[in-house]
Amino acid sequence: MASSEPGSERMGASTAAASAAPELSVIVPTFNERAVLPELLQRLVAVLEEAAPDYEIVFVDDGSIDESPAILLDAADRNARLRVLRFSRNFGHQAAVTAGIEHARGRAVVVIDADLQDPPEVIPELVAKWREGWEVVSAVRTERPGESALRLFLIRTFYRVLKRIASVDMTPDVGDFRLLDRRVADALNRMPERNRYVRGLIRWLGFRHAEVGYKRAERFAGETKYPYTKLVRLALDGVTAFSTFPLQLVAWMGFAVFGLSLLLAAYGIVGRLFGGATPPGWTSVFVAVALLSGIQLVALGILGAYVSRIFEEVKGRPLYVIATDTARDRER
Ligand code: UDP
Ligand code: MG
Repeated sequence: MASSEPGSERMGASTAAASAAPELSVIVPTFNERAVLPELLQRLVAVLEEAAPDYEIVFVDDGSIDESPAILLDAADRNARLRVLRFSRNFGHQAAVTAGIEHARGRAVVVIDADLQDPPEVIPELVAKWREGWEVVSAVRTERPGESALRLFLIRTFYRVLKRIASVDMTPDVGDFRLLDRRVADALNRMPERNRYVRGLIRWLGFRHAEVGYKRAERFAGETKYPYTKLVRLALDGVTAFSTFPLQLVAWMGFAVFGLSLLLAAYGIVGRLFGGATPPGWTSVFVAVALLSGIQLVALGILGAYVSRIFEEVKGRPLYVIATDTARDRER
């Protein structure tokens, strides 16, 4: 995905659709959403015609096996501002969001779920903030009806843990519903890592960030495409991509166990020499086990320290992100 140069990709796209870049691109990752698409299309187009008539909608069909692609292709035939990218199979929500942002040409890019949980009617508020000069505008869920208490509890706990251990500040109740300025989208496209926890990457990038509150609706129709298995995978991506805490944990455990084993070994030896209450052979076995397990954990911790550094290198993130460069920005 990142190996293709985003700039050339956009030029290729512009010959196919309208030639000038639109003001606003709306990305919709879609996976088996035939039950919601007609309603979504109608509401989204109505909102955009009103609030940002110079728009494009990029549907990324994530390998749907229902009639979603047919519905989308048919709609694209009738509205030249619609564009459909069809994945060859299901690559996952984050891949679909990434593809959409890479192919978007707008000066601002909005990512929105297909299921109308993110109401299209919020988009004008995001755009208004952007026109005020904010570079990232996140839609923050103030209510989440229709989700089970267990699911909400797990999600909340996850965000709380992530916030503590991750190297970037992650806000709970922010999904992928947000607007990105072209600069942010370009910067995101330059991040080559493959395990993409997009909301984290955007946080990591920085830029001026505003929030708009909204009441999250219930899914309009159909079922969640995020069963717990996918949710866990996403959570793991979030943790491992932004935190080496689990690796550090091993190191700390190692030092703790090693220290403890030293004490216990000393106790065992002293007891053997002066107390004599231990059965014969016990001290040597006990000391060997205690010391060796401590040493092993410390060794794992040392490996972890190197692995985490290798991981940082392999992610290949830019060392810095420039928000303003007078030489570049004057040409705009
Ligand atoms: N989605 C996707 N690929 C997947 C799973 C989901 O493109 O493998 C899309 C889905 O069509 C929807 C969005 O991602 O537009 C969010 O999914 P969903 O609403 O099912 O997640 P939930 O809101 O239940 O967490
Ligand atoms: Mg949903």
